[in-house]
Amino acid sequence: MNSDLANSKRRVAIIGGGITGLAAAHRLSEIDSTAEVTLFEAGNRVGGILETIRRDGYLIERSADMFTTKEPWALDLCRRVGLEDQLMNTNEAFRRAFVVFRGRLVPVPEGFTLMSPAKMWPVLRTPLLSGWGKARLAWERFVPTRHDRSDESLHDFAIRRLGREVYDRLVQPLIGGIYTADPTKLSMQAAMPEFVAMEQEWGNLTRGVREKATKTKREGTGARYGMFLGLRDGMESLIDAIVAHLPVDCVRLNSPVQCIRRHEHTWELTVEGEPDSCDFDALIVATRAPHAADLLRAIDGGLSQELTGIQYASAAVPVFGYRRDQITHPLDGFGFVVPFVEKRQILSGSFTSIKFPGRAPDDSVLFRVFIGGACQEELMSLSDEELYSIAERELAELLGIRGEPQIRELVRWNQAMPQYHLGHLDRVARIEQMASHLPAFALAGNAYRGVGIPFCVRSGELAAEAVCS
Ligand SMILES: Cc1cc2nc3c(=O)[nH]c(=O)nc-3n(C[C@H](O)[C@H](O)[C@H](O)COP(=O)(O)OP(=O)(O)OC[C@H]3O[C@@H](n4cnc5c(N)ncnc54)[C@H](O)[C@@H]3O)c2cc1C
Repeated sequence: MNSDLANSKRRVAIIGGGITGLAAAHRLSEIDSTAEVTLFEAGNRVGGILETIRRDGYLIERSADMFTTKEPWALDLCRRVGLEDQLMNTNEAFRRAFVVFRGRLVPVPEGFTLMSPAKMWPVLRTPLLSGWGKARLAWERFVPTRHDRSDESLHDFAIRRLGREVYDRLVQPLIGGIYTADPTKLSMQAAMPEFVAMEQEWGNLTRGVREKATKTKREGTGARYGMFLGLRDGMESLIDAIVAHLPVDCVRLNSPVQCIRRHEHTWELTVEGEPDSCDFDALIVATRAPHAADLLRAIDGGLSQELTGIQYASAAVPVFGYRRDQITHPLDGFGFVVPFVEKRQILSGSFTSIKFPGRAPDDSVLFRVFIGGACQEELMSLSDEELYSIAERELAELLGIRGEPQIRELVRWNQAMPQYHLGHLDRVARIEQMASHLPAFALAGNAYRGVGIPFCVRSGELAAEAVCS
Protein backbone atom coordinates (compact mmCIF):
# COMPACT_ATOMS: atom_id res chain seq x y z
CA MET A 1 0.00 0.00 0.00
CA ASN A 2 1.51 3.32 -1.03
CA SER A 3 0.78 6.69 0.46
CA ASP A 4 -2.11 8.68 -0.76
CA LEU A 5 -0.88 12.18 -0.17
CA ALA A 6 -4.17 13.67 -1.30
CA ASN A 7 -5.80 12.01 1.69
CA SER A 8 -6.41 14.76 4.22
CA LYS A 9 -6.86 12.42 7.17
CA ARG A 10 -3.84 12.19 9.42
CA ARG A 11 -2.37 8.68 9.21
CA VAL A 12 -0.58 7.71 12.38
CA ALA A 13 1.39 4.52 12.95
CA ILE A 14 2.09 3.16 16.43
CA ILE A 15 4.65 0.39 16.84
CA GLY A 16 4.05 -1.77 19.92
CA GLY A 17 0.75 -2.92 21.39
CA GLY A 18 1.53 -2.89 25.10
CA ILE A 19 -0.32 -0.56 27.45
CA THR A 20 1.82 2.36 26.22
CA GLY A 21 0.98 1.91 22.53
CA LEU A 22 -2.69 1.30 23.33
CA ALA A 23 -2.89 4.42 25.52
CA ALA A 24 -1.38 6.37 22.62
CA ALA A 25 -3.94 4.95 20.17
CA HIS A 26 -6.80 5.71 22.56
CA ARG A 27 -5.64 9.28 23.14
CA LEU A 28 -5.36 9.81 19.37
CA SER A 29 -8.94 8.63 18.95
CA GLU A 30 -9.97 11.18 21.59
CA ILE A 31 -8.14 14.19 20.18
CA ASP A 32 -8.50 13.55 16.45
CA SER A 33 -11.43 11.32 15.66
CA THR A 34 -10.71 11.58 11.93
CA ALA A 35 -7.13 10.27 12.27
CA GLU A 36 -6.42 6.87 10.73
CA VAL A 37 -4.48 5.09 13.43
CA THR A 38 -2.72 1.79 12.79
CA LEU A 39 -1.14 -0.03 15.71
CA PHE A 40 1.41 -2.69 14.73
CA GLU A 41 1.94 -5.46 17.27
CA ALA A 42 4.55 -8.14 16.69
CA GLY A 43 2.78 -10.77 18.80
CA ASN A 44 -0.55 -12.53 18.40
CA ARG A 45 -2.22 -10.53 21.18
CA VAL A 46 -2.14 -6.96 22.49
CA GLY A 47 -1.24 -6.07 26.06
CA GLY A 48 2.51 -6.74 25.92
CA ILE A 49 3.69 -7.42 29.45
CA LEU A 50 0.12 -7.21 30.84
CA GLU A 51 -1.72 -10.52 30.67
CA THR A 52 -4.31 -12.24 32.86
CA ILE A 53 -5.04 -15.95 32.78
CA ARG A 54 -7.75 -18.01 34.48
CA ARG A 55 -7.13 -21.56 35.54
CA ASP A 56 -9.01 -23.96 37.86
CA GLY A 57 -10.78 -21.15 39.68
CA TYR A 58 -7.63 -19.02 40.01
CA LEU A 59 -7.14 -15.60 38.38
CA ILE A 60 -3.45 -15.15 37.63
CA GLU A 61 -1.74 -11.94 36.58
CA ARG A 62 1.38 -12.79 34.63
CA SER A 63 2.98 -9.42 35.52
CA ALA A 64 1.41 -6.28 37.01
CA ASP A 65 -1.56 -6.91 39.32
CA MET A 66 -2.20 -3.33 40.45
CA PHE A 67 -1.30 0.29 39.78
CA THR A 68 -0.78 3.30 41.97
CA THR A 69 -3.31 6.13 42.18
CA LYS A 70 -0.63 8.56 43.38
CA GLU A 71 -0.19 9.44 39.73
CA PRO A 72 -3.72 9.75 38.28
CA TRP A 73 -3.17 8.69 34.67
CA ALA A 74 -4.05 4.98 34.82
CA LEU A 75 -7.11 5.63 37.00
CA ASP A 76 -8.25 8.37 34.58
CA LEU A 77 -7.89 6.05 31.63
CA CYS A 78 -9.85 3.30 33.40
CA ARG A 79 -12.68 5.77 33.93
CA ARG A 80 -12.60 6.97 30.34
CA VAL A 81 -12.87 3.43 28.97
CA GLY A 82 -15.76 2.57 31.31
CA LEU A 83 -13.95 0.44 33.88
CA GLU A 84 -14.84 2.41 37.00
CA ASP A 85 -17.06 -0.38 38.35
CA GLN A 86 -14.20 -2.86 37.85
CA LEU A 87 -11.73 -1.00 40.09
CA MET A 88 -10.78 -2.99 43.13
CA ASN A 89 -9.14 -1.77 46.32
CA THR A 90 -6.61 -3.97 48.05
CA ASN A 91 -8.02 -5.91 51.01
CA GLU A 92 -8.23 -3.40 53.89
CA ALA A 93 -8.05 -6.12 56.54
CA PHE A 94 -4.43 -7.02 55.78
CA ARG A 95 -2.73 -3.91 54.41
CA ARG A 96 0.80 -4.67 55.48
CA ALA A 97 3.88 -6.49 54.24
CA PHE A 98 6.55 -8.61 55.87
CA VAL A 99 10.33 -8.66 55.65
CA VAL A 100 12.29 -11.86 56.03
CA PHE A 101 14.47 -11.59 59.14
CA ARG A 102 16.70 -14.50 60.13
CA GLY A 103 14.43 -16.92 58.34
CA ARG A 104 11.04 -15.70 59.58
CA LEU A 105 8.53 -13.09 58.51
CA VAL A 106 8.45 -9.85 60.48
CA PRO A 107 5.99 -7.02 59.65
CA VAL A 108 7.39 -3.85 58.09
CA PRO A 109 7.00 -1.27 60.89
CA GLU A 110 3.65 0.54 60.50
CA GLY A 111 4.03 3.84 58.70
CA PHE A 112 7.43 2.99 57.17
CA THR A 113 7.07 4.20 53.57
CA LEU A 114 9.90 2.72 51.50
CA MET A 115 12.48 5.12 52.94
CA SER A 116 11.28 6.77 56.07
CA PRO A 117 9.03 6.31 59.08
CA ALA A 118 5.90 8.41 59.40
CA LYS A 119 5.60 7.00 62.97
CA MET A 120 8.56 6.40 65.28
CA TRP A 121 6.91 4.11 67.84
CA PRO A 122 6.47 1.06 65.54
CA VAL A 123 10.11 1.41 64.46
CA LEU A 124 11.29 1.45 68.06
CA ARG A 125 9.42 -1.79 68.71
CA THR A 126 10.44 -3.74 65.60
CA PRO A 127 12.83 -6.69 66.01
CA LEU A 128 14.10 -5.96 62.47
CA LEU A 129 16.60 -3.38 63.73
CA SER A 130 19.15 -3.39 66.55
CA GLY A 131 19.25 -0.59 69.11
CA TRP A 132 22.06 0.97 67.09
CA GLY A 133 20.06 0.71 63.84
CA LYS A 134 17.08 2.42 65.48
CA ALA A 135 19.24 5.16 66.97
CA ARG A 136 20.84 5.76 63.58
CA LEU A 137 17.40 6.04 61.97
CA ALA A 138 16.25 8.50 64.63
CA TRP A 139 19.41 10.51 63.89
CA GLU A 140 18.30 10.95 60.25
CA ARG A 141 16.88 14.40 60.98
CA PHE A 142 20.36 15.63 61.93
CA VAL A 143 22.18 14.28 58.85
CA PRO A 144 23.28 17.28 56.78
CA THR A 145 21.39 17.94 53.56
CA ARG A 146 23.30 17.07 50.41
CA HIS A 147 23.58 20.17 48.23
CA ASP A 148 25.45 18.50 45.38
CA ARG A 149 22.76 18.02 42.71
CA SER A 150 24.60 15.21 40.89
CA ASP A 151 22.90 11.82 40.58
CA GLU A 152 23.15 9.48 43.58
CA SER A 153 22.44 5.76 43.80
CA LEU A 154 19.73 4.29 46.03
CA HIS A 155 22.47 2.49 47.98
CA ASP A 156 24.45 5.69 48.66
CA PHE A 157 21.41 7.86 49.38
CA ALA A 158 19.82 5.41 51.83
CA ILE A 159 23.04 4.62 53.70
CA ARG A 160 23.97 8.31 53.94
CA ARG A 161 20.60 9.32 55.34
CA LEU A 162 19.32 6.26 57.22
CA GLY A 163 22.35 4.12 58.00
CA ARG A 164 23.52 0.71 56.81
CA GLU A 165 21.16 -1.40 58.88
CA VAL A 166 17.96 0.32 57.74
CA TYR A 167 19.24 0.06 54.18
CA ASP A 168 20.04 -3.66 54.46
CA ARG A 169 16.92 -4.67 56.37
CA LEU A 170 14.22 -2.40 54.91
CA VAL A 171 15.11 -0.06 52.07
CA GLN A 172 17.00 -2.51 49.85
CA PRO A 173 14.35 -5.26 49.94
CA LEU A 174 11.35 -2.91 49.73
CA ILE A 175 12.65 -0.86 46.82
CA GLY A 176 14.68 -3.65 45.24
CA GLY A 177 11.43 -5.59 44.95
CA ILE A 178 9.87 -2.82 42.86
CA TYR A 179 12.73 -2.14 40.46
CA THR A 180 14.49 -5.55 40.58
CA ALA A 181 17.55 -3.35 40.22
CA ASP A 182 21.10 -3.24 41.51
CA PRO A 183 20.77 -0.57 44.24
CA THR A 184 24.37 0.57 43.74
CA LYS A 185 23.41 1.56 40.18
CA LEU A 186 19.77 2.63 40.58
CA SER A 187 19.44 6.40 40.18
CA MET A 188 17.56 8.09 43.01
CA GLN A 189 16.79 11.08 40.79
CA ALA A 190 15.19 8.86 38.13
CA ALA A 191 13.54 6.19 40.28
CA MET A 192 12.58 7.94 43.53
CA PRO A 193 12.65 11.69 42.87
CA GLU A 194 10.14 12.42 45.63
CA PHE A 195 12.68 11.46 48.32
CA VAL A 196 15.40 13.58 46.73
CA ALA A 197 12.95 16.50 46.63
CA MET A 198 11.98 15.85 50.27
CA GLU A 199 15.59 16.14 51.38
CA GLN A 200 16.01 19.34 49.40
CA GLU A 201 12.79 20.93 50.65
CA TRP A 202 12.72 19.87 54.30
CA GLY A 203 16.35 19.04 54.96
CA ASN A 204 15.59 15.45 55.99
CA LEU A 205 13.16 12.63 55.26
CA THR A 206 11.77 12.34 58.79
CA ARG A 207 10.36 15.85 58.59
CA GLY A 208 9.52 15.56 54.88
CA VAL A 209 7.32 12.49 55.39
CA ARG A 210 5.50 14.14 58.32
CA GLU A 211 4.93 17.41 56.42
CA LYS A 212 3.61 15.47 53.48
CA ALA A 213 1.20 13.49 55.68
CA THR A 214 -0.06 16.69 57.35
CA LYS A 215 -0.54 18.36 53.96
CA THR A 216 -2.55 15.42 52.63
CA LYS A 217 -4.73 15.47 55.77
CA ARG A 218 -5.20 19.25 55.63
CA GLU A 219 -6.09 19.29 51.95
CA GLY A 220 -8.43 16.39 52.56
CA THR A 221 -7.22 14.73 49.36
CA GLY A 222 -9.01 11.89 51.14
CA ALA A 223 -8.56 9.32 48.43
CA ARG A 224 -11.74 7.67 47.30
CA TYR A 225 -9.57 4.70 46.48
CA GLY A 226 -6.60 3.24 48.29
CA MET A 227 -3.15 4.01 46.99
CA PHE A 228 -3.17 0.86 44.82
CA LEU A 229 -5.92 -0.50 42.63
CA GLY A 230 -6.44 -3.72 40.76
CA LEU A 231 -9.15 -4.65 38.28
CA ARG A 232 -11.76 -7.23 39.21
CA ASP A 233 -11.23 -9.30 36.07
CA GLY A 234 -7.51 -8.60 35.91
CA MET A 235 -5.30 -6.12 34.09
CA GLU A 236 -6.21 -7.61 30.76
CA SER A 237 -9.67 -6.07 31.10
CA LEU A 238 -7.99 -2.67 30.75
CA ILE A 239 -6.42 -3.86 27.51
CA ASP A 240 -9.76 -5.22 26.25
CA ALA A 241 -11.62 -2.03 27.21
CA ILE A 242 -9.11 0.17 25.37
CA VAL A 243 -9.29 -1.99 22.25
CA ALA A 244 -13.10 -1.83 22.39
CA HIS A 245 -12.83 1.98 22.25
CA LEU A 246 -10.53 1.97 19.21
CA PRO A 247 -11.79 2.03 15.63
CA VAL A 248 -12.27 -1.41 14.09
CA ASP A 249 -9.16 -2.53 12.14
CA CYS A 250 -6.91 -0.17 14.11
CA VAL A 251 -4.87 -3.02 15.60
CA ARG A 252 -2.76 -5.28 13.41
CA LEU A 253 -1.55 -8.38 15.22
CA ASN A 254 1.33 -10.61 14.08
CA SER A 255 2.84 -7.53 12.42
CA PRO A 256 6.44 -7.01 13.52
CA VAL A 257 7.71 -3.80 11.99
CA GLN A 258 11.07 -4.60 10.45
CA CYS A 259 12.18 -1.34 8.95
CA ILE A 260 11.38 2.36 9.14
CA ARG A 261 12.34 4.90 6.47
CA ARG A 262 11.89 8.65 6.55
CA HIS A 263 10.78 10.49 3.40
CA GLU A 264 10.27 14.20 2.98
CA HIS A 265 6.77 14.22 4.48
CA THR A 266 6.08 10.66 5.49
CA TRP A 267 7.25 7.66 7.48
CA GLU A 268 7.42 4.38 5.56
CA LEU A 269 7.04 1.15 7.52
CA THR A 270 7.82 -2.36 6.36
CA VAL A 271 6.25 -5.28 8.19
CA GLU A 272 8.09 -8.61 8.27
CA GLY A 273 6.74 -11.00 5.65
CA GLU A 274 4.69 -8.34 3.84
CA PRO A 275 5.85 -7.27 0.37
CA ASP A 276 4.25 -3.81 0.41
CA SER A 277 5.23 -1.04 2.76
CA CYS A 278 2.83 1.56 4.26
CA ASP A 279 3.23 5.33 4.52
CA PHE A 280 2.17 7.45 7.48
CA ASP A 281 2.18 11.13 8.39
CA ALA A 282 3.25 10.49 11.98
CA LEU A 283 4.95 7.73 13.95
CA ILE A 284 5.01 6.66 17.59
CA VAL A 285 7.49 3.98 18.66
CA ALA A 286 6.16 2.34 21.86
CA THR A 287 8.44 -0.68 22.15
CA ARG A 288 11.18 -1.50 24.65
CA ALA A 289 14.29 0.65 24.15
CA PRO A 290 16.48 -2.02 22.44
CA HIS A 291 13.72 -2.68 19.87
CA ALA A 292 13.35 1.06 19.27
CA ALA A 293 17.14 1.26 18.88
CA ASP A 294 17.09 -1.43 16.16
CA LEU A 295 14.26 0.26 14.29
CA LEU A 296 15.88 3.70 14.43
CA ARG A 297 19.48 2.71 13.61
CA ALA A 298 19.27 3.79 9.98
CA ILE A 299 17.32 6.97 10.81
CA ASP A 300 19.56 8.38 13.56
CA GLY A 301 22.62 6.40 14.67
CA GLY A 302 23.21 8.63 17.71
CA LEU A 303 19.66 8.23 18.98
CA SER A 304 19.84 4.49 18.42
CA GLN A 305 23.05 4.31 20.43
CA GLU A 306 21.57 6.22 23.37
CA LEU A 307 18.57 3.87 23.37
CA THR A 308 20.91 0.88 23.43
CA GLY A 309 22.47 2.33 26.57
CA ILE A 310 19.29 1.67 28.59
CA GLN A 311 19.82 -1.71 30.17
CA TYR A 312 17.16 -4.26 31.10
CA ALA A 313 16.85 -6.94 33.78
CA SER A 314 14.98 -10.24 33.73
CA ALA A 315 12.84 -12.04 36.26
CA ALA A 316 10.93 -15.28 36.65
CA VAL A 317 7.57 -15.46 38.40
CA PRO A 318 6.57 -18.93 39.62
CA VAL A 319 2.91 -18.92 40.65
CA PHE A 320 1.35 -21.48 43.02
CA GLY A 321 -2.07 -22.34 44.33
CA TYR A 322 -2.22 -24.22 47.67
CA ARG A 323 -5.12 -25.34 49.83
CA ARG A 324 -5.40 -23.11 52.91
CA ASP A 325 -5.07 -26.12 55.21
CA GLN A 326 -1.60 -26.86 53.79
CA ILE A 327 -0.29 -23.53 55.19
CA THR A 328 0.66 -22.81 58.80
CA HIS A 329 1.30 -19.05 58.50
CA PRO A 330 -1.78 -16.82 59.20
CA LEU A 331 -1.13 -14.91 55.92
CA ASP A 332 -2.17 -11.68 57.62
CA GLY A 333 -0.48 -9.40 55.06
CA PHE A 334 0.00 -8.98 51.32
CA GLY A 335 3.34 -10.74 51.06
CA PHE A 336 7.00 -10.46 51.96
CA VAL A 337 10.28 -9.11 50.63
CA VAL A 338 13.67 -10.73 51.10
CA PRO A 339 16.77 -8.67 51.95
CA PHE A 340 19.98 -9.64 50.08
CA VAL A 341 21.62 -10.10 53.50
CA GLU A 342 19.33 -13.09 54.11
CA LYS A 343 21.13 -14.83 51.20
CA ARG A 344 18.05 -16.50 49.75
CA GLN A 345 17.27 -17.20 46.11
CA ILE A 346 13.98 -15.32 45.88
CA LEU A 347 13.32 -11.57 45.87
CA SER A 348 9.78 -11.53 47.23
CA GLY A 349 6.53 -13.43 47.55
CA SER A 350 3.00 -12.10 47.15
CA PHE A 351 -0.11 -13.51 48.86
CA THR A 352 -2.07 -12.59 45.77
CA SER A 353 -5.51 -13.85 46.73
CA ILE A 354 -5.23 -12.26 50.18
CA LYS A 355 -4.39 -8.91 48.58
CA PHE A 356 -7.24 -9.33 46.08
CA PRO A 357 -9.84 -11.74 47.50
CA GLY A 358 -11.62 -13.87 44.94
CA ARG A 359 -8.52 -14.74 42.95
CA ALA A 360 -8.43 -18.30 44.28
CA PRO A 361 -11.10 -20.88 45.14
CA ASP A 362 -12.57 -20.34 48.65
CA ASP A 363 -10.42 -22.93 50.39
CA SER A 364 -7.19 -22.01 48.54
CA VAL A 365 -4.51 -19.32 48.32
CA LEU A 366 -2.66 -17.98 45.29
CA PHE A 367 1.04 -17.04 45.67
CA ARG A 368 3.42 -15.35 43.27
CA VAL A 369 7.17 -15.55 43.84
CA PHE A 370 9.73 -13.27 42.18
CA ILE A 371 13.16 -14.58 41.26
CA GLY A 372 16.10 -13.01 39.43
CA GLY A 373 16.39 -9.29 38.81
CA ALA A 374 19.61 -7.43 38.12
CA CYS A 375 21.48 -8.91 41.10
CA GLN A 376 20.56 -12.56 40.55
CA GLU A 377 20.43 -12.67 36.75
CA GLU A 378 22.27 -16.03 36.76
CA LEU A 379 19.14 -17.74 38.15
CA MET A 380 17.39 -17.07 34.85
CA SER A 381 19.46 -19.81 33.22
CA LEU A 382 17.88 -22.45 35.50
CA SER A 383 15.27 -24.80 34.08
CA ASP A 384 11.57 -24.40 34.87
CA GLU A 385 11.74 -27.36 37.27
CA GLU A 386 14.69 -25.83 39.13
CA LEU A 387 12.89 -22.48 39.47
CA TYR A 388 9.73 -24.18 40.74
CA SER A 389 11.71 -26.16 43.24
CA ILE A 390 13.56 -23.08 44.60
CA ALA A 391 10.28 -21.20 45.01
CA GLU A 392 8.42 -24.14 46.56
CA ARG A 393 11.24 -24.79 49.02
CA GLU A 394 11.45 -21.13 50.07
CA LEU A 395 7.65 -20.84 50.51
CA ALA A 396 7.60 -24.05 52.51
CA GLU A 397 10.35 -22.78 54.85
CA LEU A 398 8.96 -19.28 55.30
CA LEU A 399 5.23 -20.03 55.48
CA GLY A 400 5.18 -23.55 56.81
CA ILE A 401 3.62 -25.11 53.72
CA ARG A 402 3.20 -28.88 53.49
CA GLY A 403 2.64 -30.96 50.38
CA GLU A 404 2.35 -30.23 46.70
CA PRO A 405 0.66 -27.18 45.16
CA GLN A 406 -2.72 -27.63 43.47
CA ILE A 407 -1.59 -25.62 40.48
CA ARG A 408 1.64 -24.03 39.31
CA GLU A 409 2.59 -21.73 36.46
CA LEU A 410 5.88 -20.14 35.49
CA VAL A 411 6.27 -16.84 33.74
CA ARG A 412 9.66 -15.69 32.47
CA TRP A 413 10.25 -12.04 31.73
CA ASN A 414 13.48 -11.86 29.78
CA GLN A 415 15.02 -8.42 29.48
CA ALA A 416 11.65 -6.86 30.29
CA MET A 417 12.42 -4.45 33.10
CA PRO A 418 14.28 -1.23 32.21
CA GLN A 419 16.97 -0.22 34.69
CA TYR A 420 17.15 3.45 35.61
CA HIS A 421 20.89 3.57 36.21
CA LEU A 422 22.89 6.57 37.36
CA GLY A 423 22.75 9.19 34.62
CA HIS A 424 19.38 7.91 33.33
CA LEU A 425 17.65 11.29 33.34
CA ASP A 426 20.52 12.90 31.40
CA ARG A 427 20.36 10.08 28.88
CA VAL A 428 16.58 10.47 28.54
CA ALA A 429 17.01 14.24 28.04
CA ARG A 430 19.49 13.50 25.21
CA ILE A 431 17.10 10.95 23.71
CA GLU A 432 14.19 13.39 23.85
CA GLN A 433 16.32 16.13 22.31
CA MET A 434 17.37 13.91 19.39
CA ALA A 435 13.85 12.53 18.92
CA SER A 436 12.45 16.08 18.79
CA HIS A 437 14.47 16.68 15.59
CA LEU A 438 12.55 13.91 13.82
CA PRO A 439 9.34 15.33 12.33
CA ALA A 440 5.95 13.97 13.49
CA PHE A 441 7.68 11.41 15.68
CA ALA A 442 7.57 10.36 19.33
CA LEU A 443 9.03 7.67 21.55
CA ALA A 444 7.00 6.27 24.44
CA GLY A 445 7.18 3.49 27.00
CA ASN A 446 8.48 2.41 30.36
CA ALA A 447 12.13 2.95 29.41
CA TYR A 448 12.10 6.70 29.93
CA ARG A 449 10.27 8.46 32.76
CA GLY A 450 8.60 5.82 34.93
CA VAL A 451 8.13 2.06 34.85
CA GLY A 452 4.67 1.68 36.38
CA ILE A 453 1.43 1.46 34.41
CA PRO A 454 0.38 5.10 35.13
CA PHE A 455 3.67 6.31 33.67
CA CYS A 456 3.28 4.11 30.59
CA VAL A 457 -0.23 5.50 30.05
CA ARG A 458 1.03 9.05 30.47
CA SER A 459 3.95 8.45 28.13
CA GLY A 460 1.68 7.04 25.41
CA GLU A 461 -0.83 9.87 25.80
CA LEU A 462 1.87 12.55 25.64
CA ALA A 463 3.28 10.92 22.50
CA ALA A 464 -0.19 11.04 20.89
CA GLU A 465 -0.56 14.71 21.77
CA ALA A 466 2.93 15.48 20.48
CA VAL A 467 2.41 13.96 17.03
CA CYS A 468 -0.94 15.74 16.68
CA SER A 469 0.35 19.19 17.63
C1 LIG B 1 6.84 -9.10 36.51
C2 LIG B 1 6.37 -7.68 36.38
C3 LIG B 1 5.52 -7.14 37.34
C4 LIG B 1 5.08 -5.83 37.22
N1 LIG B 1 4.24 -5.32 38.17
C5 LIG B 1 3.75 -4.07 38.04
C6 LIG B 1 2.76 -3.58 38.94
O1 LIG B 1 2.29 -4.30 39.85
N2 LIG B 1 2.29 -2.31 38.75
C7 LIG B 1 2.72 -1.52 37.72
O2 LIG B 1 2.25 -0.37 37.61
N3 LIG B 1 3.64 -1.96 36.84
C8 LIG B 1 4.15 -3.22 36.95
N4 LIG B 1 5.05 -3.69 36.04
C9 LIG B 1 5.48 -2.81 34.94
C10 LIG B 1 4.47 -2.69 33.80
O3 LIG B 1 3.75 -3.89 33.67
C11 LIG B 1 5.20 -2.39 32.49
O4 LIG B 1 6.05 -1.27 32.64
C12 LIG B 1 4.25 -2.09 31.33
O5 LIG B 1 3.28 -3.11 31.19
C13 LIG B 1 5.05 -1.92 30.04
O6 LIG B 1 4.18 -1.63 28.98
P1 LIG B 1 4.73 -1.14 27.57
O7 LIG B 1 3.58 -1.01 26.66
O8 LIG B 1 5.59 0.08 27.74
O9 LIG B 1 5.73 -2.28 27.06
P2 LIG B 1 5.42 -3.78 26.64
O10 LIG B 1 4.32 -4.34 27.43
O11 LIG B 1 6.75 -4.46 26.65
O12 LIG B 1 4.90 -3.66 25.13
C14 LIG B 1 5.74 -3.45 24.04
C15 LIG B 1 5.11 -4.16 22.84
O13 LIG B 1 5.88 -3.84 21.67
C16 LIG B 1 5.83 -4.98 20.83
N5 LIG B 1 6.92 -4.84 19.84
C17 LIG B 1 8.26 -4.84 20.05
N6 LIG B 1 8.93 -4.70 18.88
C18 LIG B 1 7.97 -4.57 17.91
C19 LIG B 1 8.03 -4.38 16.50
N7 LIG B 1 9.19 -4.29 15.85
N8 LIG B 1 6.86 -4.32 15.81
C20 LIG B 1 5.66 -4.43 16.44
N9 LIG B 1 5.55 -4.60 17.79
C21 LIG B 1 6.69 -4.66 18.51
C22 LIG B 1 6.01 -6.13 21.79
O14 LIG B 1 5.56 -7.35 21.20
C23 LIG B 1 5.14 -5.68 22.97
O15 LIG B 1 3.82 -6.18 22.87
C24 LIG B 1 5.51 -5.02 36.12
C25 LIG B 1 6.35 -5.56 35.15
C26 LIG B 1 6.79 -6.88 35.26
C27 LIG B 1 7.69 -7.46 34.19
